[in-house]
Amino acid sequence: VAPVVTIDGPGGAGKGTISRLVAARLGWHLLDSGALYRLTALAAVKHEVPLDDEPALADVAASLDVAFLAEGAATTVLLEGQDATNAIRTEQVGDAASRVAALPAVRQALLQRQRDFRQAPGLVADGRDMGTVVFTDAPLKIFLTASAEERARRRHLQLREAGVDASLSSLLKEIQARDARDMQRSVAPLKPAIDAIVLDTTRLTIPEVVDRLTELLTE
Ligand code: C5P
Repeated sequence: VAPVVTIDGPGGAGKGTISRLVAARLGWHLLDSGALYRLTALAAVKHEVPLDDEPALADVAASLDVAFLAEGAATTVLLEGQDATNAIRTEQVGDAASRVAALPAVRQALLQRQRDFRQAPGLVADGRDMGTVVFTDAPLKIFLTASAEERARRRHLQLREAGVDASLSSLLKEIQARDARDMQRSVAPLKPAIDAIVLDTTRLTIPEVVDRLTELLTE
């Protein structure tokens, strides 16, 4: 089987950016598992499936018609043939994603789809439970964290670059609420795998984190 490096951690710790850069440097495939939960939530809203109807949501997840089209550094996400790249990134969809992600039947329905991403020459898997559930045999597991304040600050900057002016204190509250839901749920709660290397990125730049991971991969 192809090698896999798992990169788990809370929202805003830089997993998305770091995973993309590490995958590009290695020439490996990338799994953005959060996108699958976001797409499930978006598809549910589109088909008017209530966000607490577990069996119906599991059906939505199992029959999800998605495609990830890599174009250089950017990836276009298609849902039922339509561009959903930006639609899945809103706070509203993120919030809905964390609700559907708390349902065991939904997680089960997405399990094999995630494992299918493991192909030669290798996979960088970004999420919350990549090392604890989906790829338990991964030779390298990373848990990226940063303080909630620093994650709120990064999100604030990101939004400002996108022309959105959100208040720092409301972003911090949202981040803390999302963390609590992800850590307290009964299935696949957010936590480092016992064999994970925990990396606090609060005081690290993106290139520093990428270099550190590349070092760990070649050790
Ligand atoms: O990482 P991202 O913010 O895109 O993930 C959206 C939500 O999906 C998270 O808040 C989390 O609840 C859920 N998720 C998950 N397991 C994963 C990836 C994401 O439960 N492997």
